[in-house]
Amino acid sequence: MKKNATIIIIGAGPAGTSAAYHLTQAGIDVLLLDKESFPRDKICGDCLSPSSMQELEKIGLRDEVTAKSNEIDGCILYAPNKSYFTVDNCKARPHLMMRETLDNMLLKKACEKGADFLENTRIICLEKKPDRIILKDDSGESYSCKLAIIATGSNSSLPIRLGLLKLPSADAIACRAYVADINFSSDKILLSYAKDLLPGYGWVFPLGKGKANVGIGYFFSKGNNPNPRKIWKTFAKFLEKEGIFGKNTKPVSEVKTALMRMGLRGNRLFAERILLAGDSASAINPLSGEGIYYALQTGRFAAWAAQQAIEAGDFTAQQLLAYQKMLKENYKKKFKNYRKINRLLSNQAIINQMVKIAGEKRELAETIFVTLLGESNPMKSLKLFAKHIIKSWFGIFKIVRKKVSSRDGGINKKKVG
Ligand SMILES: Cc1cc2nc3c(=O)[nH]c(=O)nc-3n(C[C@H](O)[C@H](O)[C@H](O)COP(=O)(O)OP(=O)(O)OC[C@H]3O[C@@H](n4cnc5c(N)ncnc54)[C@H](O)[C@@H]3O)c2cc1C
Repeated sequence: MKKNATIIIIGAGPAGTSAAYHLTQAGIDVLLLDKESFPRDKICGDCLSPSSMQELEKIGLRDEVTAKSNEIDGCILYAPNKSYFTVDNCKARPHLMMRETLDNMLLKKACEKGADFLENTRIICLEKKPDRIILKDDSGESYSCKLAIIATGSNSSLPIRLGLLKLPSADAIACRAYVADINFSSDKILLSYAKDLLPGYGWVFPLGKGKANVGIGYFFSKGNNPNPRKIWKTFAKFLEKEGIFGKNTKPVSEVKTALMRMGLRGNRLFAERILLAGDSASAINPLSGEGIYYALQTGRFAAWAAQQAIEAGDFTAQQLLAYQKMLKENYKKKFKNYRKINRLLSNQAIINQMVKIAGEKRELAETIFVTLLGESNPMKSLKLFAKHIIKSWFGIFKIVRKKVSSRDGGINKKKVG
């Protein structure tokens, strides 16, 4: 059993396997560890944005994923007042694939390139030595490397225990179940901003042949203490009323819950001989909860930073600072603006109004879809949303003013008469 490598990666999700692939591609000796045995289930919506597909292309998996996944060309989006708009034939096309399949494909690709993999290995602590770092697992085994990449996801406390991630440990909670025989088109996703789901949303992501990933995501805010399974059931009732869950619809998995760390949040994403990637670096879009793209990309960036450190023979925090700068340059502003949009989408009146206008204006409907996919420039989307809302509220204001003045006119006329 291999116990030493130049780089050890903890966690074989998209962040860890992407880092492993890119490092082995550069000829670097890598050991990848995971506490689970693969293939393993991962609680997720299974939605791969167009940007995720681009990252998969860099790993040589785009064609295989395209062939084995379900392509989506639009969405139906419900507002709190139950009105909705539909958009189809969009240029931006996400793909849906169960994570159990995707993550196993990624792992296989990293191993084919030369990464060594050890499953059922849960790392519980890291100890820095002058010339290396020692990792210990829960059975007392030790592993040694020059640099460790922590890619243990949103539910691991390792980055917090190392003093890198700040509390609170999560920004949102989400849950999902697989269901069979739904009455819903397989080329659209359904998103619901129903009143009971705010601040958050529900989704139906069709995987093909009547099977779907059905879930809810709920953002923590001061004073709320969500019960995600209860919210999921409320969403299921809504789907029943809409006829999407029919007589034959049946669950084919449990409803499973997981935490999410979002938006970088000013966390420290590195230390001497350590880099954080993916959810461990809280690299999730704070509007939609999209994290696969950011996991694949931060994995690639971490591989780049590790390679630079190896070439310089320098694993100090100062050398690794470039990694944090890279993540901040790429995501900080974008996440800040997605957060602003998220605040808009927590307000019932605003969503109702946007859905109403989007029902009449394709440009707005498509921008909402693309923005929720994380594919827009969020600042441009914000400006477009603000323009439409202000214009429509100004329109309502003008109608009300006209009504009031004609009513006053009527009263005056009566008085005169
Ligand atoms: C309900 C839900 C729905 C979501 N839907 C979507 C979606 O549709 N699209 C999207 O892009 N994103 C979605 N996300 C986010 C996405 O799932 C994550 O951002 C993504 O999985 C992050 O990848 P990762 O590699 O960082 O972590 P993970 O995929 O969580 O992988 C971490 C790995 O580390 C292993 N591990 C953990 N601790 C240890 C340890 N101590 N020792 C060894 N191994 C360890 C785990 O077993 C796991 O295999 C969703 C998240 C949730 C919770």
